[in-house]
Amino acid sequence: MQYYSLNNKEHLVSFQEAVTNGLAPDKGLYFPKEIPKLEASFFDSIESLSHEEIAFEVIQPYIGNEIPEKELKKIISETLSFKFPLVQIENNVFSLELFHGPTMAFKDVGARFMSRCLGYFNKDKDTNNTVLVATSGDTGGAVASGFLGVKGVDVVILYPSKKVSDIQERQLTTLGQNITALEVDGVFDDCQDMVKKAFLDPDLKHKKLTSANSINIARWLPQMFYFFFAYKELKKYNKPIITSCPSGNFGNICAGILAKKMGLPIHHFVATTNANDTVPRFLRDGVYQPKPSIATISNAMDVGNPSNFVRIQEMYTNDLKAFEKDFSSYSYSDEATKEIMQSIYSNSHYIAEPHGAVGYLGLQRALALQPESIGFFLETAHPIKFLDIVEPTLSVTLKIPKQIQTVLNKHKKSIPIKEYAALKEYLSK
Ligand SMILES: *Cc1c(COP(=O)(O)O)cnc(C)c1O
Repeated sequence: MQYYSLNNKEHLVSFQEAVTNGLAPDKGLYFPKEIPKLEASFFDSIESLSHEEIAFEVIQPYIGNEIPEKELKKIISETLSFKFPLVQIENNVFSLELFHGPTMAFKDVGARFMSRCLGYFNKDKDTNNTVLVATSGDTGGAVASGFLGVKGVDVVILYPSKKVSDIQERQLTTLGQNITALEVDGVFDDCQDMVKKAFLDPDLKHKKLTSANSINIARWLPQMFYFFFAYKELKKYNKPIITSCPSGNFGNICAGILAKKMGLPIHHFVATTNANDTVPRFLRDGVYQPKPSIATISNAMDVGNPSNFVRIQEMYTNDLKAFEKDFSSYSYSDEATKEIMQSIYSNSHYIAEPHGAVGYLGLQRALALQPESIGFFLETAHPIKFLDIVEPTLSVTLKIPKQIQTVLNKHKKSIPIKEYAALKEYLSK
């Protein structure tokens, strides 16, 4: 498969180049040249396929012969080495739990897949790639864990000081080895801007920088799997399916829409946001106007200018009607989020953390408009990762899972930085 830059359709690269570049030299995000269509027979028999078999069918056309079948199957099996339960919490409402991986965040899947692709491409080389990543919370931990010890790759993570939870901070600052955490005096958008600047800096060319945010196709594409896994379970209800994704950089929802374009029968997508409402405002007013990010209790979605929205637009370039039919986007306050956490808990005895709860709210609204449907929201993190919010809001005490217990005993190690010059100096060493 070839990939073009969203800024220039003539600029075509291979899967490997797209993964190692992260962002195209003209700053455009990469996008597959064609969207492969899956056979009807695949959907007819999806119930009988394992997660690994589904994932292989879905991702293989995006890679072609650049990774041999046997290697790719191994990468997929390491990527998906945990469960993805779809939990029914009401008659027509399901929670797709994406938090059973090593860092208890959905980003584990993308990070593990990408690290192993990069590891494969670097196996016979003697210079390292440097993965540079900005995190609003969960990316950092998932990337740190996913890349830990992968040969040929150094990882540098930028995170906004005091704007991630204690557990999130420990997950990205305590591993050591090939992982370094830079603690930025600023917000997530400052981190993201610095990362973008470094990619375009000619003085850093020789560093072979690449991204591990959802702008990187190897992080982004495997997120399609979730939607297929949910469909596998929901098909038997024979009803239109709605999904609501708690959205920050819009990578997840954009992967879901790509899955739909491949033929997956999901009828409607809701991108639900917290107070960072750039996309909901765009749908309402028709003007795309990013704003600086606002801190909320669902901090992994505190993104003022979602990078992947351009990919969604690309998939609907000439079809505004289809876009309006397939896609909606709503924003919710922290108060509304806490209230719904309480009501989900008292009605269904289900503990949703703030991101999942935001997803639930968007789903509830869409289901009210299309009551004959069933729906699922993505529960993108384990409640323990947002313990500071979950415990007081629900008056519960959470048990600490063993993945988390391990990092709580380790010591934070980070390098404080203020502006781009400091990042550049670090990378130039
Ligand atoms: C990253 C993240 C999101 C947002 O996902 P995007 O793909 O950036 O929209 C939502 N919830 C949690 C817990 C996350 O870590």
